[in-house]
Amino acid sequence: MSAPVILVTGGAGYIGSHACKALAIAGFAPVSYDNLVYGHREAVRWGPLEEGDILDLSRLQAVFDRYCPAAVMHFAAFAYVGESVSEPVKYYRNNVSGAVNLIGLSAERGLPFVFSSTCATYGIPERVPISEATPQVPINPYGASKWMVERVLADTAAVSPMRYAALRYFNAAGADAESEIGERHDPETHLIPLAIQAAMRKGPPLSIFGTDYPTPDGTAIRDYIHVTDLAEAHVLALRDLLAGGDSMALNLGTGAGHSVRQVVETVEAVAGKEVPVRLAPRRVGDPPELVADPSRAFERLGWRARHSGLENIVETAWRWLALQL
Ligand code: UDP
Repeated sequence: MSAPVILVTGGAGYIGSHACKALAIAGFAPVSYDNLVYGHREAVRWGPLEEGDILDLSRLQAVFDRYCPAAVMHFAAFAYVGESVSEPVKYYRNNVSGAVNLIGLSAERGLPFVFSSTCATYGIPERVPISEATPQVPINPYGASKWMVERVLADTAAVSPMRYAALRYFNAAGADAESEIGERHDPETHLIPLAIQAAMRKGPPLSIFGTDYPTPDGTAIRDYIHVTDLAEAHVLALRDLLAGGDSMALNLGTGAGHSVRQVVETVEAVAGKEVPVRLAPRRVGDPPELVADPSRAFERLGWRARHSGLENIVETAWRWLALQL
């Protein structure tokens, strides 16, 4: 029997490409659908690439007809929080309207749908760790766009055979252990690649955004989750849905937080050299602390982070970046 085809939108992107690798290892046949605006052709290595935009409904329909996928994994989205504030229509058009196109096609066909959501849907939570029952009150258009898609999924699943998994990632980081793929954003805004580039003297000194947070060392705390752990969770959620499981919303994080300074120290330990830093004001919209309560993902899928020690995250990211720069 041939491997079940999984349509992966954003398969040329950071998390989507790692999911394609995990799918192929698990015996599925990923087909990537990507407009290559932020994705990279070379990251599509475990199945065909269909170039196209999720806003192009007829193109999407043709790809569904051609491959008859068994399920959809939807990663394609714009993901710069700052840009979402200055260009909200760009975010709502792509992230919401594009997802609605895909959800419509999946619902018509009754296909399981795995959605790339985010802890940004929670906004500034009242308490950490954050469980899935925490009210979703996003504070920027990026988080709002992802929350809206979760709502469209819930409403659609209520009246169609489609079932879905909304996977709310905390801070995706790290790279494939074999350095076949990794994080390549342009522009790069994320802490770990910027700290590594500063350590390699391939970028400017790292700006530490905010040293007056109400945290032990004054810098903001995040829950860094290895991209390979995220990819494995997608495969488990997919298997659950394909086996007839009900819809789910799950946090994907480790349950442990690390401050910006702790990340810098880990990069210095891995690099064996100092990370040049400059102290800067807080970045607008950054909450002091975001840490997952990941217990529901374990109860539902038996999933827990296995690759997300901060050293492993930094080492894999370092190896990948060393090949790129
Ligand atoms: N951060 C920083 N300097 C940078 C980039 C990020 O101090 O150049 C901080 C940021 O304020 C946040 C944490 O590092 O507290 C993680 O930021 P990132 O952009 O990687 O992910 P986010 O949590 O915003 O999704």
